[in-house]
Amino acid sequence: MLATVLASVAVAIAGPAAAPATLPGDFEAAAAYWGAAPAHCSTESVSAGRLPHRVLGEATIPDPAVSGPCVMKISRGMTHRMRCLVVVHEYGHWLGRHHSSDRKDPMFPVVSPRMVVPQCERP
Ligand SMILES: [Zn+2]
Repeated sequence: MLATVLASVAVAIAGPAAAPATLPGDFEAAAAYWGAAPAHCSTESVSAGRLPHRVLGEATIPDPAVSGPCVMKISRGMTHRMRCLVVVHEYGHWLGRHHSSDRKDPMFPVVSPRMVVPQCERP
């Protein structure tokens, strides 16, 4: 079941400190895909956590007028490709991107097998 809802902007939910949710490379893939770093993030952090049913990731974004910490929470147990797509999506929110109606766009609000993010394709 690949049609899974992504939360757009949500307050981070407290969760247990846990193993990193992302393998090395997911942030790098997101930065490479977007070709930009989030300008309003004073710090960037990601953690694995428990999220509401069918939500795979969520991003907390500071007020665009004021820099602040950017926090990402990613659900556990995804394949590399799915997790990478979720990180790219949430990173897009850090950059101020909004949801897209194009299923191939990683900002589509539901993870789709048709999303095209070459940086998330690994052999
Ligand atoms: Zn979103």
